[in-house]
Amino acid sequence: MTAIRSLAVFCGSRLGVNPAYADAARALGRGLGQAGIRLVYGGGRIGIMGVVADATLAAGGSVLGVIPEFLTQWEVAHTTVTEMVVTDSMHSRKRRLYEESDAFLVMPGGLGTYDEAFEIITWRQLRLHDKPIVLCNVAGSVGPLVAAIDHAVEQGFADPACRALFEVIEGVPAVLERLETLSAGRSGSGERL
Ligand code: AMP
Repeated sequence: MTAIRSLAVFCGSRLGVNPAYADAARALGRGLGQAGIRLVYGGGRIGIMGVVADATLAAGGSVLGVIPEFLTQWEVAHTTVTEMVVTDSMHSRKRRLYEESDAFLVMPGGLGTYDEAFEIITWRQLRLHDKPIVLCNVAGSVGPLVAAIDHAVEQGFADPACRALFEVIEGVPAVLERLETLSAGRSGSGERL
């Protein structure tokens, strides 16, 4: 088994309406820092993204931010992460996030988070990689995303086996526990992404 050393976290650039989201993000960052798992994320210092990054750093952890140049102002790039990579496009950002990570975690977020979650799940469906994907449920946050997938299965647009492409885990403590036993998956060729 190859332990998870580096985790990409997809999450919101806003805080959302429920304080439970930021609480979960703080607990996640603290846990990653304590476990010595590097946080790889979108590089912002706002919203849930900023909370996870700050908490990881505060716990002594390592953080890699990957942000496209055009978003450095708009998304307010973090200034104290361990390492920041500035890419020329959204696509090169996503590829870099993918390449730098052993596994993926989806936390509460908006359209960008949904996009990143669906993309990494569909890349796995296409067998472009075999890295674990975890959806962390916080106050029902994953419900609509999983419902969309279930609907596609029910309507005959997706194979029921696609439910095995990701795991839904309730809350951050259980996610941190799961990260201890998850094995880093095979990395496919980045050329086909
Ligand atoms: P959001 O969940 O919309 O707050 O966005 C979370 C992250 O996803 C941010 O880092 C955004 O830059 C990124 N993002 C936003 N829109 C898109 C998109 N269409 N495709 C890929 N990533 C996006």
